[in-house]
Amino acid sequence: MTRLLPTALLAMALLAPAYSHSTTPIPRLKPGLVVPKAAVPVTKGRAPGARYFKASVPFPVLKPMRTAKVIRKPVIVIDPGHGGTDPGAVGVKGTYEKTITTSAAHELAARLRRSGKYSVILTRTKDSYVNHDDRLRIARKGQADLFISIHADSAGNKKARGASVYTLADRAKGRSKRIVNNQNWILDVDLSAQSDPVGDILVELAQRKTESQSDEFAGILLNELAGKTELVGNSHRRAGYYVLLAPDVPAVLLELGFLSNQADEKLLKTKKHRAKIISSVERAIDRYMDER
Ligand SMILES: [Zn+2]
Repeated sequence: MTRLLPTALLAMALLAPAYSHSTTPIPRLKPGLVVPKAAVPVTKGRAPGARYFKASVPFPVLKPMRTAKVIRKPVIVIDPGHGGTDPGAVGVKGTYEKTITTSAAHELAARLRRSGKYSVILTRTKDSYVNHDDRLRIARKGQADLFISIHADSAGNKKARGASVYTLADRAKGRSKRIVNNQNWILDVDLSAQSDPVGDILVELAQRKTESQSDEFAGILLNELAGKTELVGNSHRRAGYYVLLAPDVPAVLLELGFLSNQADEKLLKTKKHRAKIISSVERAIDRYMDER
């Protein structure tokens, strides 16, 4: 008994009637209950109000509270399309899409890193195969503020040329929801703790916000690309590309141009032309982030 803490003794005292009379309701502590003075343990050897430390001993100093917001650099995830065993589109002169996307992605990453404004993550750094699920996982794990997938187009019509920007199509949203369930993604809330209808609503809310952010970035990006490179007609397009499916990561897929067009293929192989596009992407990211 002597080793019991004073609070445990107090609790026992309060609960005591319950032990002796089983019919007596157990008293419950009300919020704000004032513990009677008699129950407050008296600390021996120190007068009330006495200082814990002698004046000669410095008082412990609490660290000042950090009121300033923790500065976190926006995270940009760059996804070079295809890679490894998947070459992507093959140009008129045999250029592999994966070669162009790898170069462009590295060039964009270098630019963004040089600016010092962003944390940059590449979904692959080498010419390796990374499946779509893993690309999305990398984006979500890195807490991407923006996901940019880089590709080069190909079309039956050899005259088709120019860049375009894709965001997620409405029809693909159901698929996005299924991925969330299959992969047990944790959004801002843990969906496993929600009923299905509530979970659906939460995913939809996340999707709606992400969609408007993706659209906003796509608009800014096209605006920056205009004049720097050719754009295909109706250059903001929507598709169900897998890499655009994360419901909580604003994402666009940038098609740099058409490898099936000889002039575009020739341009995309040059660092100078890619630099024009890449600098437009950087300006678009700056503008988009400035508005956050
Ligand atoms: Zn592609």
